[in-house]
Amino acid sequence: MEQYDIAVIGAGPAGLSCAIHAAVPGRRILLLEKNSTPGNKLLLAGSGQCNFTHAGDTHDFLPHYGDHGKFLKPALFSFPNHALIAFFATRGLGAETDENGKIFPETRKSADVLEVLVKECGQRGVDLHCEEPVTNVSHATGEFEITTPKATYQCPVLVITTGGASYPKTGSSGDGYRFCAALGQPVTDIAPALTPLRIQAFPFAAFSGMSFEHLHFSVWRAGKKIADHTGDVLFTHLGLSGPGILDASRDIRAGDEIRLSFAGSLGREAFAADLARRAEENRSWQLSTLLAAYPIPERLNRKLLALSGIPVDLRCSHFSTVQRSKLIANVTEFPLTVAAPGDFSVAMVTRGGAALEHVNQKTMESKIVPGLYFAGEVLDIDGDTGGYNIQAAFSTGFIAAAGIRKRWE
Ligand SMILES: Cc1cc2nc3c(=O)[nH]c(=O)nc-3n(C[C@H](O)[C@H](O)[C@H](O)COP(=O)(O)OP(=O)(O)OC[C@H]3O[C@@H](n4cnc5c(N)ncnc54)[C@H](O)[C@@H]3O)c2cc1C
Repeated sequence: MEQYDIAVIGAGPAGLSCAIHAAVPGRRILLLEKNSTPGNKLLLAGSGQCNFTHAGDTHDFLPHYGDHGKFLKPALFSFPNHALIAFFATRGLGAETDENGKIFPETRKSADVLEVLVKECGQRGVDLHCEEPVTNVSHATGEFEITTPKATYQCPVLVITTGGASYPKTGSSGDGYRFCAALGQPVTDIAPALTPLRIQAFPFAAFSGMSFEHLHFSVWRAGKKIADHTGDVLFTHLGLSGPGILDASRDIRAGDEIRLSFAGSLGREAFAADLARRAEENRSWQLSTLLAAYPIPERLNRKLLALSGIPVDLRCSHFSTVQRSKLIANVTEFPLTVAAPGDFSVAMVTRGGAALEHVNQKTMESKIVPGLYFAGEVLDIDGDTGGYNIQAAFSTGFIAAAGIRKRWE
């Protein structure tokens, strides 16, 4: 049995961050990764460009993790966005910020981010073992025992950084929850988050790829409005996606109704009044021409008319009251019923995980099993799109490492 000071399970951003920051001379650190290469999900991040954090003050990060931002406060303040940017900059990889505040490596390549991390592990003497999946963990002897198909390791400190259960083909297939159970660490229910929505009989499937900036939409359950959102929305062949939908998906269930507003900043009443005025002033115009005054792509404008039972060439002078109220409803509150939020195969992150009330937020150490630490998405943490998840992985990895180093003082 080989002895280490720490074993870290999972070489994603959380595990790499923890191993790097825990590595001090004289300490043996083992980082075990099931895939033949580390960071497979990191490579996919931001469509391969790696949106690794977000611009702005650390306080502004907290609301981007739903109710769980409070738990992350010490981690985010210990290792905030500017510390992460500086970490890469001092290793030769600059960053750039897009118009929405998303921060990327200046090369726009996830592979460059990963290369810095893997190189740093090597320089700090971390033993990174790829293609070595952990199959079992136990804590029977007072120390942790970690079993892989190749060996059994023993160590006083174990860090679980196995990620969530989404995109299982990247390696994060929920093993961490099994390890938590084996060690007596409670895990909450888990569900897909940051996930697209499948819509029942989606009427805009032919417009797959059409996107909208700052679209307003509301979410209704059993006839009651439960949320209002504004964000970028994308039509897919099955339903809705885009950052606005992904961020809202955390609280959306099958059967909920999404009502889309294509009328820009105008609400139902304001749109009705505006439409009436324009129709009166331009009585000889076709309705489709009138609708061009609103931020509705032409193809969609025709579809909305058709779905409202209005011939595309109808002139404003022949616009009936019934047609008018149908069109107003469809433009300002187009109703779509959610067939199902996307499953783990398409969700970008996992909602739920190692229960936060049993983890010390200042060290990421279990309150139940001394020496057991967590970082990254295996925790019950999920952030919005925009770099918040990778930042959380790095920050929790950092603060766990700081907690571990304290044990050795
Ligand atoms: C398509 C996609 C795009 C994304 N884009 C962004 C983005 O632009 N910005 C952002 O902030 N977030 C993004 N995310 C989310 C972000 O990538 C994750 O939240 C983040 O990678 C979580 O880091 P982690 O280290 O906790 O887990 P992971 O990155 O999932 O890493 C966990 C690692 O543990 C390994 N592992 C699991 N089980 C075992 C085992 N039994 N033995 C050994 N190793 C094991 C896995 O193989 C994996 O390498 C994206 C996610 C997806 C799916």
